[in-house]
Amino acid sequence: MAFPALTSYNNTMISEQELQQLVESISLESFSRPFLHQAKINRRLKTTGGRYQLSDHHLEFNPLFLKEENLHYLPGIIKHELVHYHLHLAGLGYQHKDRDFKLLLQKVGGSRYAPRLEGNKRSRWHYRCRQCGQDYWRQRQVNVKKYFCGRCRGKLKKIAGPLAK
Ligand SMILES: [Zn+2]
Ligand SMILES: [Zn+2]
Repeated sequence: MAFPALTSYNNTMISEQELQQLVESISLESFSRPFLHQAKINRRLKTTGGRYQLSDHHLEFNPLFLKEENLHYLPGIIKHELVHYHLHLAGLGYQHKDRDFKLLLQKVGGSRYAPRLEGNKRSRWHYRCRQCGQDYWRQRQVNVKKYFCGRCRGKLKKIAGPLAK
């Protein structure tokens, strides 16, 4: 069965450059300290909104939260990652279990967990064509043995979902 090519889904999403600017401005506003590293989009992030990379101090964000309809979650996610970032650079307790982390997270109003995408069930399941890279977003889980890409008839792989579980 061919997977119907779906292009009508709202694909408006902020760019990596816009993301970088947003992280920099939130850092100055909420932490009174500059963000001097890179903010990147990581399409492999599945269950988290973002990630702080200890080794080189860059931040990674889940593209689901860069989409227009989920953008309202983004400041909370950015603040969460910046709490890791600034505490780690300052040599303080930067892990979730640390008191420094909990206090600063509360102070700046960061998200505690990756937000549940309730009311936005359409984007819960994310598939990508192994051959042409076409993305598909579906409300329900898809049998990838039965359905294939509507563009090139390639096989699909599951990228993410369900985030809202
Ligand atoms: Zn965290
Ligand atoms: Zn394809």
